[in-house]
Amino acid sequence: MIDTHAHLCFPDYGEDPEKIAKECEHEMTAVIVTSARYDEGLLAFKLCAKHPHLFPSMGYHPAEGDGHPEKVMEMIRKEKGSIVGIGEVGLDYHWVRDPQKREQQKKVFSDFIKLAEELNKPLVVHSWDAEPECFGMVKTLQMPVIFHCYSGSRELAEEILKQGFYISISTHVLLSKQLRKIAKMVPLEQMTLETDAPFLSPSKYLETKGMADRLKPGFDPNKNYPWNIRFSAEKIAELKKVSVQEVLQKTTENAVKIFGLRL
Ligand SMILES: [Zn+2]
Repeated sequence: MIDTHAHLCFPDYGEDPEKIAKECEHEMTAVIVTSARYDEGLLAFKLCAKHPHLFPSMGYHPAEGDGHPEKVMEMIRKEKGSIVGIGEVGLDYHWVRDPQKREQQKKVFSDFIKLAEELNKPLVVHSWDAEPECFGMVKTLQMPVIFHCYSGSRELAEEILKQGFYISISTHVLLSKQLRKIAKMVPLEQMTLETDAPFLSPSKYLETKGMADRLKPGFDPNKNYPWNIRFSAEKIAELKKVSVQEVLQKTTENAVKIFGLRL
């Protein structure tokens, strides 16, 4: 199984990335270690260099960036041989209301889209409360586009799928009825799984189901970890009436193909 979006080097994870990386060796086929700003990207790059099952995707968060997207772009160009994806990048209208700042986000997003085209790398899109605007900016692209942590409408999901793009289902599927509806309609051929770790811990869900003992001992239950996508796979299997194995196999194949992983 492959977690396509985990911030293993998130500054406030409160967990040793090496410890998580080692645990992933036993549990995961691969993990895409995502970053959202320069410092995090640098750490992610170094971590992935040491672990053959970890692969870096670098980007610049529309709302939580450090003011220097150009530094991230420079690093991506320099390390293009080992970086497997561009992102997360995109638009965030949830946290950013100011029209001028939204225009800036569009400019930065458009620069990263061009970079992804130039380097022929898949684009990992952050689109919180700006899903239609993001789709508008990527819909003509002839390359893999993943809508990470998708939380938009059903109608737009249909448009995204028609375009041949991918929808990434986060562990939030365990808690959100709306997301379960989306997961049910997205064909396995166009789905990837992600945790968005350290966020979106499944512990609340597992507690209500009396399954809290399934959380891995020795790790903070309030944080999320790549191996927790297994719980999402179980939920999606239940929704689609297929086996858990099939969900994990198809989503793994997709991730390998999208990011061109050499395992
Ligand atoms: Zn993220």
